[in-house]
Amino acid sequence: MAKGPILTHPVFDTWSALRRRLDDAARRAGRDAKEVSVVSVVKFAALDDVQALRSAGVCRWFAENRVQDAQKRRLGLGETSRSGWRFIGHLQTNKAKAALELFDWVDSLDSLDLAEAFQRRLEGTERRLGVLVQVKLTGRETQSGLGPDEAAAFLERLKTYPNLRPAGLMGIAPMGDDPEAARPAFKRLKQLYDALYPEKAGPDGPWLSMGMSGDCEVAVEEGATLVRVGSALFKK
Ligand SMILES: *Cc1c(COP(=O)(O)O)cnc(C)c1O
Repeated sequence: MAKGPILTHPVFDTWSALRRRLDDAARRAGRDAKEVSVVSVVKFAALDDVQALRSAGVCRWFAENRVQDAQKRRLGLGETSRSGWRFIGHLQTNKAKAALELFDWVDSLDSLDLAEAFQRRLEGTERRLGVLVQVKLTGRETQSGLGPDEAAAFLERLKTYPNLRPAGLMGIAPMGDDPEAARPAFKRLKQLYDALYPEKAGPDGPWLSMGMSGDCEVAVEEGATLVRVGSALFKK
């Protein structure tokens, strides 16, 4: 933890409030709150807020959903390290190289083409890129991700890529005003996660990434180990 002055930044009020909500949700579900990590989604955040949160060391994970925005923001932050940065958006294969430079993790892997593109770039290097497989939680064709019934076979294929390290699943629940509406989808994703990753989760996965600002408490109650929070953390 950083000392004194920096924790007076207003972003730490929202951080503490969010952490309390998540800790309470974990307790309700009989879970250890330490199993739940926040991924701070910075896509609409002020640089100043991101900087404060990153330098304080209270949050391990930060995420972006667009490569170009990430490039710009990283310049603004004066950061060159990709440490702690996760990619959570849809990625075109021609952006694989840029994504590898900017991100430590890709949580939204949704095609073998993309897996190939990463493997080609990493071939012969020491690096193993941590990836989560994105699973579709709605029937909507516009959402990217694999169908739940395709995930097992996809994961088997991924295991043949030596420079990728599959370490969990990510899902985006149907958007709505009622967080309870997301619960059945979260339950299904948790079941799939348990089936595909029977091993115990450690500090580097396997992870179950589900829940956003509106439904992160329900997601924690249903077993999320990563929640992706933007608007609740970075208030305008
Ligand atoms: C923007 C985004 C989030 C965060 O959404 P909020 O509702 O602002 O918390 C989470 N996951 C993904 C994939 C996103 O694009």
